[in-house]
Amino acid sequence: MTITASREAELLASVPTGLLINGQWRDAAGGKTLDVHDPATGRVLASIADGGSEDAIAALDAASAAQASWARTAPRVRGEILRKAFELVTARTEDFALLMTLEMGKPLAEARGEVAYGAEFLRWYSEEAVRDYGRYLTSPEGKNKILVQHKPVGPCLLITPWNFPLAMATRKVGPAVAAGCTMVLKPAKLTPLTAQLFAQVMQEAGLPDGVLNVVSGSSAAAISGPLLKDSRLRKISFTGSTAVGKSLMADATENVLRTSMELGGNAPFLVFEDADLEKAVDGAMAAKMRNMGEACTAANRFLVHASVAAEFTSKLAARIGALTVGRGTEGGTDVGPMIEEKARAGIHALVTAAVAEGATILAGGDVVEGEGYFYQPTVLGNVPNDAAILQQEIFGPVAPVTTFTDEADAIRIANSTEYGLAAYLYTRDFSRLLRVSEQLEFGMVGFNAGVISNAAAPFGGVKHSGLGREGGSEGIAEYTTTQYIGIADP
Ligand code: NAD
Repeated sequence: MTITASREAELLASVPTGLLINGQWRDAAGGKTLDVHDPATGRVLASIADGGSEDAIAALDAASAAQASWARTAPRVRGEILRKAFELVTARTEDFALLMTLEMGKPLAEARGEVAYGAEFLRWYSEEAVRDYGRYLTSPEGKNKILVQHKPVGPCLLITPWNFPLAMATRKVGPAVAAGCTMVLKPAKLTPLTAQLFAQVMQEAGLPDGVLNVVSGSSAAAISGPLLKDSRLRKISFTGSTAVGKSLMADATENVLRTSMELGGNAPFLVFEDADLEKAVDGAMAAKMRNMGEACTAANRFLVHASVAAEFTSKLAARIGALTVGRGTEGGTDVGPMIEEKARAGIHALVTAAVAEGATILAGGDVVEGEGYFYQPTVLGNVPNDAAILQQEIFGPVAPVTTFTDEADAIRIANSTEYGLAAYLYTRDFSRLLRVSEQLEFGMVGFNAGVISNAAAPFGGVKHSGLGREGGSEGIAEYTTTQYIGIADP
């Protein structure tokens, strides 16, 4: 079904365009606005308030003023607001999905999947809000008592990327609300509309004024800079590139902030000689092509045992070569546009360099001419192990395939990256899964699974992929601080 222009216009007109500060949607202090574009056409979708330093401080004023009463609000009440938000987001699946497709480009079917995944963080943390346990025990000496309790960490700055406009926000807002923290959310400037609509839904769900403030803006540093210098802020949770994450970590030292960093990835996808190749190709399609490859968990390097590499690669090239590229709003589209021209040019430069280094193009390999930032779904064979495309995050629909000959070799190649987010493993041998996983320096491992994200599971990386976890019981712990009370022999 193709979406009509009037349906798009009606939805866009319903999205709040202001900054959300203390429950009020208002213009930016400087009166500036920021245009949001459709990457499939380049047209302007909407113009929203372009927040800056003054707005950021006003948002922190609100978050700081609301913190004490929000922390005292019963966990059940916080949980019920999240539950209501889950229901409202789910009821508006079509609106959220279309908005994401318009501002980010992903096909509508995938956008609907993101709504379901993103909403799940609201439901999961609605249930976790009432289960944040402390402990009470007798000291080892047998007299005094040890009481341990959790408290909300305080006002948080949440910074989200453009690739999953809803899920990256709910993954932070859900646990922060459950834990009793107040927030300033800064969405990516390329895709702020989804976060604006989500914040409105949180208001509808009954979130008190000042608990969630949203400051979108063209200059991220103008917003984060003054907040990181302000001692009222107690935490930063960031999802984005490793380079920006490192600089925010450095700035966060000034006020010794709690930090959660969900950064870049360079996921290996290991296919062993005993793997079910049909399932491995299915998993590869999901791990590579979901979100057009614009995912931190995207398979970035296919490492295939030499004995099955030819069969795996030709099956993968056939599947990837048959994908339909087009606007996400058009029925039948498998692969939407890249987010912007700069991103597409970077992907093409990696492909061109790989070919110069000896790789062969088995599908795609070029930009799609015409409007929008489309790139052909691409498979590269015979990629040398030291090729730049295997070292960097591709963030696009390009699958480079390389080979290994034994398990130790596969593990060594997989670990030879500064990143450590997700790794995928295809084998029928469960003991190999355990043996290899133990040696893989990655925060997450998919076993015969190409998609592993789940609200109930701890998502996050090691090495330069970040610190902390989102999802699961680990996710709420990121927003609480531990207080110990030593009690003299009662
Ligand atoms: P990015 O680092 O450019 O931007 C992320 C966010 O940070 C945006 O909101 C942006 O406006 C803001 N930002 C940029 N410069 C800033 C600065 N100097 N100070 C403060 N904020 C700043 O990343 P991106 O291009 O939006 O997203 C892609 C990256 O995100 C990829 O590297 C991807 O792997 C990573 N990512 C990681 C995860 C994860 O969970 N580990 C999930 C999604 C994306």
